[in-house]
Amino acid sequence: MKTRGKIIVIPLGDLDFYQVNKLAANLSVVFSAGVDILQGVDLPEEAENEQRSQYYSTVILTKLELMRQGESERLLGITEEDLYIPTVPFIYGEADPAAGCAVISFYRMRQEFYGESEDDQQIFSRALKEAITQVGRLYQLGHCSNPRCVMYHSKSMVDIDTKADKFCDNCRRRLVRRSV
Ligand SMILES: [Zn+2]
Repeated sequence: MKTRGKIIVIPLGDLDFYQVNKLAANLSVVFSAGVDILQGVDLPEEAENEQRSQYYSTVILTKLELMRQGESERLLGITEEDLYIPTVPFIYGEADPAAGCAVISFYRMRQEFYGESEDDQQIFSRALKEAITQVGRLYQLGHCSNPRCVMYHSKSMVDIDTKADKFCDNCRRRLVRRSV
């Protein structure tokens, strides 16, 4: 599979750089794209909703779009903070394919969020699936109805844990066709 373009990973706030590096390396293989990791930047203050103790992800995407340097770049912001959009209690990530920008949160990937002990491998596996889903949307893939496909729209941690970190045959074919 030949996919051109570049994925730009942008750490937002304090992050585990080992996890970010590993995520970037995996994205490079999955999308056959070059990946750059930018120096971390602070989360935009205007995205913070103090009442909800969350960040409005669409506002973050607007800020990321300002950092984009051309059509061939796809930007992925990563944060430890909890994300939301006004219509739902929380989201794991959001993508704006027209803007070429996406953001994901590690916040709910953590076992300890569910009262269990920390497991770096599982956090990473969940974060990678969500990252592939959101970057996949930047490659113009839609959500997939196959619950095992990485493009399945995950609304719960069970959804994320059920799906694989791979594309189903249909999504893979679409990705190859839309490679630019
Ligand atoms: Zn699929």
